[in-house]
Amino acid sequence: MEKTKKFILPESEIPTQWYNIVAEMQNKPKPMINPQTKEPIKAEDLFPLFAEELSRQEVNTTDAWIDIPEEVRDKYKIYRPTPLVRAYGLEKALDTPAHIYFKNESVSPVGSHKLNSALPQAYYNKLDGTTNLTTETGAGQWGTALALACKMFGLELAVYMVKISYEQKPYRRSLMQTWGAQVIASPSMSTKAGRKIITDNPTYQGSLGTAISEAIELAMQTPHCKYALGSVLNHVSLHQTIIGLEAEKQMEMAGEYPDVIIGCFGGGSNFSGISFPFLRHKLKGEKNTRFVAAEPTSCPKLTRGSFQYDFGDEIGYTPLIPMFTLGHNFAPANIHAGGLRYHGAGSIVSQLLIDNLIEAVDIEQLDTFEAGILFARTEGIIPAPESTHAIAAAINEALKAKEEGSKKVILFNLSGHGLIDMSAYDQYLAGDLINHEVSDEEIAKNLEMLA
Ligand SMILES: *Cc1c(COP(=O)(O)O)cnc(C)c1O
Repeated sequence: MEKTKKFILPESEIPTQWYNIVAEMQNKPKPMINPQTKEPIKAEDLFPLFAEELSRQEVNTTDAWIDIPEEVRDKYKIYRPTPLVRAYGLEKALDTPAHIYFKNESVSPVGSHKLNSALPQAYYNKLDGTTNLTTETGAGQWGTALALACKMFGLELAVYMVKISYEQKPYRRSLMQTWGAQVIASPSMSTKAGRKIITDNPTYQGSLGTAISEAIELAMQTPHCKYALGSVLNHVSLHQTIIGLEAEKQMEMAGEYPDVIIGCFGGGSNFSGISFPFLRHKLKGEKNTRFVAAEPTSCPKLTRGSFQYDFGDEIGYTPLIPMFTLGHNFAPANIHAGGLRYHGAGSIVSQLLIDNLIEAVDIEQLDTFEAGILFARTEGIIPAPESTHAIAAAINEALKAKEEGSKKVILFNLSGHGLIDMSAYDQYLAGDLINHEVSDEEIAKNLEMLA
């Protein structure tokens, strides 16, 4: 029989609903709370910052399925459904009996999964009469996705880009500008938060936490201007479930069911997206699939962080979020997987980890690039430095299967391609990259500051 490499769904099979796992979790995540009153956050509390429907989705604990607006499905057609691919080349190189599949989210025009949430976020804001959005971006993937989504739905966008990335990733900046967004290096003098940070430390190269503070401040002060976040929050994970819902149908086409599902982990959105639709069968006791989140050793919130209420940003403008965290002042090493340099994990994933429904592993930077290069040479696609964490974890599972002689089925999410991250590959190939360790003392010190 001829072997199938790619499993392709027709456009008519783009899901019509997202999956809200919270509705089916026995132990619900704790609510976000207001830092002043300590009261749980209600949808209305979020209206000043987020579109109304997004605010309602954020706190929805009852509806397992939420309709995808026709206008959003229409834009999804630009790149969805994305292919599910059998990694025959990688299997052969590893000489493993495991079957390895990956969901290829790198085919979106922005090169990552982030457009899956950027489109609905822009759409719901437009519905509300919002004219302008603000956001932050680290390595630039979220900013580029929101820039395109805003252009599609007729909104203006201002992006605070972490200063070091603004300088090191000029092409992501030009992508955002090509799609019509205004890009500002953060910390900047345009906000109180930025001015305070620059005054305290004039050479500060910026962080996601700072950029979030600046974007929120601008949104709060500008009429008809709202804020958008590309990860961590429940409504972002909700939108990303389109990945797993498609993958479920495609695995059925392949005639297999995954034993283990893997995603790289920044704030949790792509991991949630590939996992939650499959996890619903585990919640119902129908399947015993394992779910593995792969994070960088240098930013180990899931494997070494503490579960507690913490701010989502550096200054403390956000509600308090129940999360595995390294502390909102944690300054991760400057690894190339910029999208994974975030101090906390979303509240749903955090609860699932407490309940042992998912697992986490940490991966060293050099191992991620070794895995990325093997993947590029066997499957052809150059993966994003973030996605290489999932590839490395998948390779570890495939090698374990080889030792055990088991025909395990592995599914991982390829969250993006690395074509705009070639300077990172350059450095790796030149032997200039290193691993970054975090000491227990450093983690303890940041968590102490929270108490
Ligand atoms: C942003 C990003 C990530 C990490 O974010 P999550 O919310 O954890 O998914 C991973 N991969 C790529 C390519 C990204 O752009």
